Amino acid sequence: MTRVAIIGAGPGGLMTAYLLERKYKNSCQTTLFEATDRVGGKILTRRFDCVPAIYEAGVAEVYDYGMIGPDPLQQLIGELGLKTTPIDGQTVVVDGKVLRNEHEIAEHCGEAALMAVEDFRRRAAAMMPIETWHEGFWQDDNEHPWARRTCEEILNEVADPAARKFLKVAVHSDLATEPHLTSGLNGLKNFVMDVPGYVRQCSIDGGMEMLPRALQENLIRTRLELNSPVVGVEKNRNEGYRISFRRNRRIEQQDFDAIFIALPHNWLNSIEWGGERLRRAMTEHIAYYDRPAHYLRITILFRKPFWQSLITDSWFMLDAFGGCCVYDESARHDVGEYGVLGWLVAGSDALTLVNLDDRTLVNRAIESLPDGLYEEAHEHFIEGKVHRWAAAVNALPGGCPVRDTRAAHLPEAKEHPGIFVVGDYLFDSTLNGVFDSANLATDLLHSMPLLVDDLPPHPSKKSATCFSPQQQ
Ligand SMILES: Cc1cc2nc3c(=O)[nH]c(=O)nc-3n(C[C@H](O)[C@H](O)[C@H](O)COP(=O)(O)OP(=O)(O)OC[C@H]3O[C@@H](n4cnc5c(N)ncnc54)[C@H](O)[C@@H]3O)c2cc1C
Repeated sequence: MTRVAIIGAGPGGLMTAYLLERKYKNSCQTTLFEATDRVGGKILTRRFDCVPAIYEAGVAEVYDYGMIGPDPLQQLIGELGLKTTPIDGQTVVVDGKVLRNEHEIAEHCGEAALMAVEDFRRRAAAMMPIETWHEGFWQDDNEHPWARRTCEEILNEVADPAARKFLKVAVHSDLATEPHLTSGLNGLKNFVMDVPGYVRQCSIDGGMEMLPRALQENLIRTRLELNSPVVGVEKNRNEGYRISFRRNRRIEQQDFDAIFIALPHNWLNSIEWGGERLRRAMTEHIAYYDRPAHYLRITILFRKPFWQSLITDSWFMLDAFGGCCVYDESARHDVGEYGVLGWLVAGSDALTLVNLDDRTLVNRAIESLPDGLYEEAHEHFIEGKVHRWAAAVNALPGGCPVRDTRAAHLPEAKEHPGIFVVGDYLFDSTLNGVFDSANLATDLLHSMPLLVDDLPPHPSKKSATCFSPQQQ
């Protein structure tokens, strides 16, 4: 029996536990350590205090690539019996004007701006055909002509200022950073999301948190230790590893044969890595991916969805806060007669605003609405909620240059071949990416020389698990 520890019960840790059970059946005895009293990490579906209406306080949506190739995350969602609802948005609010279609863009920004936006999108699609985009963040990316340029440099090639602003607003929320802090290639992967045919977005019925809940319910052989933050990882005397974790203000220790560290890059520093070799390797790993990006969510409950007479999309883009996405939570969740809008503020604006109090932020969000909607927002306001996500995502997923993915998951393979990392920051900073990462890392368990005899045969690509990580 191989004793396995997983650190972190966010989506990455839960997916790792799920895959270990699927791939290795009874051969693994798994313990999942979670610092807080809940599973799910940044997937957070919350309720207002005044009425039982739900909203997404963290992860907004799932990306569905099903129409262009295998989509392991959609397969997982289906396997867990979860239902999804497609969500979509076209509307952009610029300079107080609601632009719902090409005609309105041309009318407000000018024909030349519309043509420049369309030219840019055509160019983006040519630079990244659908098949290439679907392959994700792999080493081939290093050969792409936009890999070593910044996203800002690419945007500066758009001569029309109105078109440039429009494109910047449209991408800011997805990047969670400023265009000069990420690569042109990462920008490109997000620009093409506005080109029809690349991706669909969907929401999980009942709230995004149904995903971690369903994963937890399906874990049969995994022991979950809540309120148990791991504070140290080191090698023990028996070629295994020792985990130190805090429980009830005391430090306890347990030994394992393998460890999966399913933490986002910003949490890795909170662990003490024992032994010089591991400490150096982890420090180097953390430094390589240390590109913090930021979000801030302001969600407001209104007496009625007053904006729906003007905007019927599931979300719209707003030029306030450097470009933010405003979700109509009432378009995807049943909130009765009420209306719920959620502002997803990104990048430097999120970081700057993070120190302001909730009331000020709620007021700023209402003030950001265009004339016509602003007055009604004041009139129908009931309750506002703020959730802060500073440094919680990665501005340059995959690192630069993108590393060999196998090596990236094994930070110190020589003397610590049983320590694996799992993270969305190794791929594309999304749930799809963290699932690919969990899939790859759990396959790598077979690379551990001491354990190979204990484990069932290596799951082939066509194994019963159905999950195949994207091809390198
Ligand atoms: C506002 C926001 C919106 C987003 N929207 C989307 C979206 O629409 N679609 C999408 O695909 N992705 C989205 N993402 C990204 C998504 O949240 C991540 O891809 C995903 O949460 C990564 O999962 P994870 O398990 O690696 O990390 P997390 O979700 O951060 O989970 C980490 C877990 O580890 C625990 N932990 C931390 N330290 C320790 C420790 N020392 N010991 C034990 N446990 C520990 C934490 O408490 C947490 O439960 C969004 C992120 C944010 C912040």
